[in-house]
Amino acid sequence: MRPLTDAQIRASFLNASRSERKNLILPTDLESRDWESLDYLGFRDPKLPKLASVIVELDDEPVGILLRQTDARPRSRPQCSWCNDIQLPNDVVMFAAKRAGDAGRRGDTVGILVCENFECSVNVRKLPPSAYLGFDREAARDRRIAALRSQVTDFARAVRDGT
Ligand SMILES: [Zn+2]
Repeated sequence: MRPLTDAQIRASFLNASRSERKNLILPTDLESRDWESLDYLGFRDPKLPKLASVIVELDDEPVGILLRQTDARPRSRPQCSWCNDIQLPNDVVMFAAKRAGDAGRRGDTVGILVCENFECSVNVRKLPPSAYLGFDREAARDRRIAALRSQVTDFARAVRDGT
């Protein structure tokens, strides 16, 4: 994704109030991030551990979504809805995002299971094991990256448009 500044991130939120935006604590290492290897930016608020944010490129614009980790604990070991990693090296947790606009004000949310600390971009860039002789591991990796991007933009669209 394209690099983002502090101001761009704060201005991008679909579902955050003015005070939520203002009080948000952003990562301090934005300038040194490897943006090219990120399909979305995800971070947690160091002061409010249940609060997290993701920034996604949707229709060529950065779109920020505020997430709250819910206490729901899935019964079986869950899979991340975004990277679909089968051999996940990290935990997956349930987040809820308030929908944009009136729907969100009425309490309407979108739920999603995602890697606890937003490891998806790292997970999909690992070369998958060879499934059969002649299996193209790099093409498989490219497909996983493309799939992650489309999952994340679908989620952002659902929060924005309620679809
Ligand atoms: Zn993931």
